[in-house]
Amino acid sequence: MLDLAIIGGGPAGLTAGLYATRGGLQNVIMYEKGLPGGQITQSSEVENYPGVCEIVTGMELMECWPKQAMRFGLRHEMQEVVRVGKCQDTFLITLANGEVQKAKSVIVATGSTPKRAGFEGEDEFFGKGVSTCATCDGFFYKNKEVAVLGGGDTALEEALFLSNIAKKVYLIHRRDKFRAAPSTVKRVKDNPKIELILNATIKKAYGDAMGLQGVIVEQDGKEIDLKVPGIFVFVGMHVNNEVLKQEDGSFLCEVNEWGEVVVDLRMRTSVPGLFAAGDVRSDASKQVVCAAGDGATAAISAISYIEDLGEDFRLC
Ligand SMILES: Cc1cc2nc3c(=O)[nH]c(=O)nc-3n(C[C@H](O)[C@H](O)[C@H](O)COP(=O)(O)OP(=O)(O)OC[C@H]3O[C@@H](n4cnc5c(N)ncnc54)[C@H](O)[C@@H]3O)c2cc1C
Repeated sequence: MLDLAIIGGGPAGLTAGLYATRGGLQNVIMYEKGLPGGQITQSSEVENYPGVCEIVTGMELMECWPKQAMRFGLRHEMQEVVRVGKCQDTFLITLANGEVQKAKSVIVATGSTPKRAGFEGEDEFFGKGVSTCATCDGFFYKNKEVAVLGGGDTALEEALFLSNIAKKVYLIHRRDKFRAAPSTVKRVKDNPKIELILNATIKKAYGDAMGLQGVIVEQDGKEIDLKVPGIFVFVGMHVNNEVLKQEDGSFLCEVNEWGEVVVDLRMRTSVPGLFAAGDVRSDASKQVVCAAGDGATAAISAISYIEDLGEDFRLC
């Protein structure tokens, strides 16, 4: 029986693992379906992590987090968790390989994933010109023209990154104002390689078997044919709450109308012993520093939950 199972190895899960093991929990596994680090490893520019004064890539930022977290005994299993259930006081963690692991407490830190925008051809050309990761795919467009869709911090930062590689970047946004930090907006507006296409949406993506050839943009009732081989979509995030879905379709704990796991200030969910941290929880600021803080809080709460478990713990 595990003291604590952590699901997800991004900033929230890694920090939870560090605090839980350094705080004395002996038997802690962090399940991460890929390499630890989380979605920030896809970012090409991070300039807002406190204490890191240079602009770094997400990969650079996360490089030593797993090493630090494992120093105090955290174990990492590269496994996908399919479901978290509860039987009596025992949590049952079902893994994709069919195994079921028992745990006294659980921290869900499964994060979020980029949403698709929903235009025609987006799914057809995903991975063949349509991308949600400039760091991963930007280099394919060296000295070519590309488009970026979105108006938040991520869209603007990735447009800036792409402007260092591509010949030209079209930034398409459905409003005339951006929801990004003023310093980032200024850098975008001052960049001669970025052309803004505002009050505009993408109607469809087109191409052939070789990949994307362009997108049709709608602006003020007119259509613009942008002949770009690459379009990068940054239009918000989907909350990864699937592990909490039970066989009857209900959620193990309370989630809000956006599917975010409802927590209190100690990261406690509506189910005793179950905690949530990072992008997956309600009212998350969806930032690395906040996810890390949540992970620490959730681990401290898990430690006191386990300390308070009495003799009458009901094993399943
Ligand atoms: C392109 C981009 C740029 C960004 N730029 C910034 C920035 O400049 N500054 C900033 O502060 N934030 C930035 N963010 C946001 C930041 O990355 C997130 O807020 C942060 O990573 C959230 O951490 P997390 O641990 O909650 O979740 P995540 O980082 O999403 O990690 C969750 C982890 O859980 C794993 N997982 C999910 N489901 C399962 C499962 N069922 N079983 C096992 N493992 C699972 C995933 O593989 C993933 O590794 C950016 C995000 C993106 C995509």
